[in-house]
Amino acid sequence: MGSNRSILLQKDEIQLIANETGFTSAQIQRLYSRFTSLDKNNTGYLHKQDFERIPELHINPLKDRIIEVLIDDNGHDEKINFRQFAKVFSTFRRGKTDTVSKDNKLKFLFSVYDRDKDNKISKDELRMILNMLVGANLPEEQMNAIAERTIAELGADGNITYNQFVETLEKIDIDEKMSMKFLT
Ligand code: CA
Repeated sequence: MGSNRSILLQKDEIQLIANETGFTSAQIQRLYSRFTSLDKNNTGYLHKQDFERIPELHINPLKDRIIEVLIDDNGHDEKINFRQFAKVFSTFRRGKTDTVSKDNKLKFLFSVYDRDKDNKISKDELRMILNMLVGANLPEEQMNAIAERTIAELGADGNITYNQFVETLEKIDIDEKMSMKFLT
């Protein structure tokens, strides 16, 4: 049942993706079978609802944002194809150097916050994330106060820059926080 869904990739496609991502062809095949298992309707693309089915993402309070960054920033027309998908995940892979991978994870996480892409996290953007993280558990005034305090502590001009963001997150283990284990 459905076994011929995972149509094998063409050799030249594998070569192209290998060149772009640095993945070996075995890694690409494995990622492709993960991709096709998520692509329930066999469209050749992953849509928002395909990502929502991933249990580890499903329970993540920031899942809507994470999926938005995955699809809107890396795909096209509210969907992502395998080549684009492989490219995103190649930026997270351990390998070439851990510094590069860590840096890319931080950039990804930053873009989860910075949705207007002005390279700063504003108080409103921070508040939106706080809202997703703690939501109904916190009265709005309290959430505003936290956002204000955080910005005041971190940001010089009422915004948090990428460098300030990185400095703050350096205290936590980003590999733990940004685990993409569900894809491998
Ligand atoms: Ca911003």
